[in-house]
Amino acid sequence: MVMTAAAAARQILMRLTEVMASRMHAQGKLDQVVEIIGECLSSEVCSIYLLREGMLELFATRGLNQSAVHVTRMAIGEGLTGQIARKVETLNLAEAKAHPDFQYRPETGEEKFHSFAGVPIVYRERAVGVLCVQHVEPRRYEDVEIEALQTTAMVLSELIANAELVDEEEALGLTAEQSGPQTLAGLTLVKGLGAGFAVYHQPRVEITQVMAQDIEAERERVYRAFDKMREQIDSLASQAEFGVGGEHEEVLETYKMFAYDEGWSRRINEAIDSGLTAEAAIERVQQHTRMRMREIDDPLLADRMHDLEDLANRLLRIVAGQVGTAASQGLRRDTILIARNLGPAELLEYDKRRLKGVILEEGSLTAHVVIVARAMNVPVIGRTKGVRTTIREGDEILLDASAGSAIVRPLPQVADAFQARFAKSREKQAAYASLRDVEPFTRCGTRIQVMMNAGLRDDMAALAMTGADGVGLFRTEFQFLVSATLPQRERQTRLYRDVLDAAGDKPVIFRTVDIGGDKSVPYLASEIAAQDENPAMGWRALRLALEREGLMKIQARSLLEAAAGRTLYVMFPMVSEPWEFDAAKQVFDEQIAFLRAQRKRLPESVRFGAMLEVPALAEVLDLLLPRLSFLSIGTNDLTQFLFAADRANPKLAERYDWLSPSILRFLRRVMQSSIGSGVDIGVCGEMGGRRLEALALMGIGYRRLSITPAAVGPIKELVRKVDLAELSAAMTALLADPSRNLRAELAAWADARDIEYD
Ligand code: PEP
Ligand code: MG
Repeated sequence: MVMTAAAAARQILMRLTEVMASRMHAQGKLDQVVEIIGECLSSEVCSIYLLREGMLELFATRGLNQSAVHVTRMAIGEGLTGQIARKVETLNLAEAKAHPDFQYRPETGEEKFHSFAGVPIVYRERAVGVLCVQHVEPRRYEDVEIEALQTTAMVLSELIANAELVDEEEALGLTAEQSGPQTLAGLTLVKGLGAGFAVYHQPRVEITQVMAQDIEAERERVYRAFDKMREQIDSLASQAEFGVGGEHEEVLETYKMFAYDEGWSRRINEAIDSGLTAEAAIERVQQHTRMRMREIDDPLLADRMHDLEDLANRLLRIVAGQVGTAASQGLRRDTILIARNLGPAELLEYDKRRLKGVILEEGSLTAHVVIVARAMNVPVIGRTKGVRTTIREGDEILLDASAGSAIVRPLPQVADAFQARFAKSREKQAAYASLRDVEPFTRCGTRIQVMMNAGLRDDMAALAMTGADGVGLFRTEFQFLVSATLPQRERQTRLYRDVLDAAGDKPVIFRTVDIGGDKSVPYLASEIAAQDENPAMGWRALRLALEREGLMKIQARSLLEAAAGRTLYVMFPMVSEPWEFDAAKQVFDEQIAFLRAQRKRLPESVRFGAMLEVPALAEVLDLLLPRLSFLSIGTNDLTQFLFAADRANPKLAERYDWLSPSILRFLRRVMQSSIGSGVDIGVCGEMGGRRLEALALMGIGYRRLSITPAAVGPIKELVRKVDLAELSAAMTALLADPSRNLRAELAAWADARDIEYD
């Protein structure tokens, strides 16, 4: 090519534009396109293959035998062309015959050509055809030539969409890999089964216009989008909810590196110079980078590629003005939501009735988004590999979160079997429901308190459905998470009153706000971020509330007013030293005095409790217990601090077990040091909702568990099978001389007694 790259590319695009705008029929246009490309790239051969009846059919060629047109057909994955379509990737080969996938087709007369380059023609994220060039002389094509091919492929996909050259149905299914059934494996985060259609939390942008009308305007759009994206990335760095955990720093660093990468923005600009719209330019540069990254074939780079894809998608969404997540568009049918990671607030934005499951590429068992999903009864798997290459928007998915797997595009017989299992699991649920009015007494006659955790008004329906003994943990911050601004006192009062009304005679323990950590709220984000490198151990929960006294005061007043004439249970999160409990209680005492002075009706009694989540508190229980009426152990936070393992870090998600001697001995010591104090002690972390863990907790003396509503039935059933004397002897023995795998030993103990624990 003798002109500058951009000028040459622009000239190709202009010629293509003319062809596309002409009144010619689609076949005529394709014939012209191969001529233009062949000529501009001085290429002996240029061919277009399009998908028809599941095969790639030669639709137009310059240089191969014309008699092969509509005769030569390749299966997906067959030959170089088939490989390009199957993998949706570009090939650039100096010597085509040397490639292991090369296949010779005598009818085309292609034996004399050595070099080969081909690009997929992509429509709705799937390859629906291939555009390729061949040369007699063996040489690798230059970047600008490959780019010209990629641009042409985009133009062709626009033509295909308009001229209906390929069958839409067919276009949406495709290669065995992309259209056949696939199974993905992940880590069980919330058990359960769910079926629905894939929706990406961050939807992809469809490029509908490839050729720019006004190059300067497109450039301006891209500049603005870059600015906005950089702003977003900078502010993400200050938000805890993004990819929370150890990995997020690393990811953010990469994001920043790409976002500010001059090379990237320059390449996009050059693509715009060649006449593309901003969207098409971003996409084409991305295609090119993908090809490059693949050639390097380094697993570390593959990870980086994933980040760059994320970022390019973000840039595309900004340019296209698609700012909201899928939640803002609403779910139209049963949905399996796909995301890299989610914040709890983001999950809460989805319509609960349509959301049937979540597949995360990251995620961990006690991240708040998972707790929220558990409360919503939505099955979740995390740490799922191969999501983006396998799942397309709209694919049918059967999610078996209990087994940690998802079947994408299932065969009908598999879907039937799944439905049968679904029915079985519903039967099981029905069996648990029948325990609703049965009080959970152990075989030896001890009453275990089985309470439930809640956080939203809607959750309260579960109280009657499960027959739980009350709400052992009401996470009041959920209301803060779902609102864009700090909830006003009236709104808070209304919620607390509704909750108490729904609970009737049953107790509800309101935990004062626990924001910060992975529960970031927009109106405090900057303050939290400014101070916290490690938000889980940072300015959160009571620490934040005591310093933002206004926030705590308003909440205290709302709770006191809502509980007028009833018993109010208040619990403070993340108490680390006894004085923090005193300070928090004082805020309530002052509000009580204020309301009394106002002659307002007060609660009949107010009971104060603390959460034990910070290990240091265990050392001063003798000082704290006399001031409390109850203590609740938050094992989610407690274990992250005991093991120094971020609860939201996906890399640590499977590393430590709740059934470890250190955790269980710690919990046993806390229980023992409370004996005689008269303080009611329970556990309200996720641990208590898992049957084997609940067994261990009962075995070391716990008699009150507050758990996710879905676990109430299973735990009640478990309680009824247990003899506490026998269980506690077993736990004493196991903890005295623990084996490496306490879980397996306890499971064997349960098996021997026909106690179900899965
Ligand atoms: C806990 O930490 O165990 C707990 C119950 O509180 P949260 O999960 O809301 O932090
Ligand atoms: Mg906690």
